[in-house]
Amino acid sequence: MDKTKLNELRAELVADRDGQLEFLEEHGADPYGEEVRDLGVANDGFADSAQATEERSEILGHIESARSRIHQIDEALERIDEGTYGVCADCGNAIVEARLEVRPLSIRCVDCAEQAA
Ligand SMILES: [Zn+2]
Repeated sequence: MDKTKLNELRAELVADRDGQLEFLEEHGADPYGEEVRDLGVANDGFADSAQATEERSEILGHIESARSRIHQIDEALERIDEGTYGVCADCGNAIVEARLEVRPLSIRCVDCAEQAA
């Protein structure tokens, strides 16, 4: 992958991570920990209602996926810095660019990803 493309991709990943971080911040959730201070669900006596419980678990689900995405993005950025980005973690072959464009967080080539699935 050439440098220009790599820089573009890095900018995309950083922007993506910023968006996830912003979302976590809104909820007072530590991106690298377990803490969640504010689920953004009104605590007005209805907090224990089924709906509030449902909302809370939905937000917690979003927080969980934001955290894991940030983690994956961090790893991808690290690989870009190390120059190992786009190299399959299993077989060491280059991951085709078209795949990285669609799924920039891929760490395996198509063949290995299929085997792992
Ligand atoms: Zn592979």
